[in-house]
Amino acid sequence: MAAVSIFDLPVSLQPLITDTGDCWIWTGFVRPDGYGKARGRQAHRVVYELLVAPIEDGLELDHLCRQIKCVNPAHLEPVTRQENIRRRFELVTHCKSGHKFTPENTYIRGNGHRACRACNNANAARYRAKMRRAV
Ligand SMILES: [Zn+2]
Ligand SMILES: [Zn+2]
Repeated sequence: MAAVSIFDLPVSLQPLITDTGDCWIWTGFVRPDGYGKARGRQAHRVVYELLVAPIEDGLELDHLCRQIKCVNPAHLEPVTRQENIRRRFELVTHCKSGHKFTPENTYIRGNGHRACRACNNANAARYRAKMRRAV
């Protein structure tokens, strides 16, 4: 992508963005979900469409820099919802007890969330021990 700058944006948007030299941090109105809001839409989508290209229907912009207030189009990549969710998954590499989410140690619960087999086995063992004591 050709280098673009905040000054390529409409003047009305420029004062709402701080260029840190890397991320462009949105300092305008922020929606309850943490995304910036511009022209009634997500600010990063508005900036991306102004400077790069329209975003295809059904695609989400993934923040490669993990700063959800960043609107730098160089840090944004249009991806499908499934791909976006898959990437979120990959960021979490360990369960809350510190077991690694390997294919062998991971299963998907009915609600679609990942669960850790090692924790599940430990819970089952604790439960059985408790039942034995109770008898
Ligand atoms: Zn960024
Ligand atoms: Zn675990």
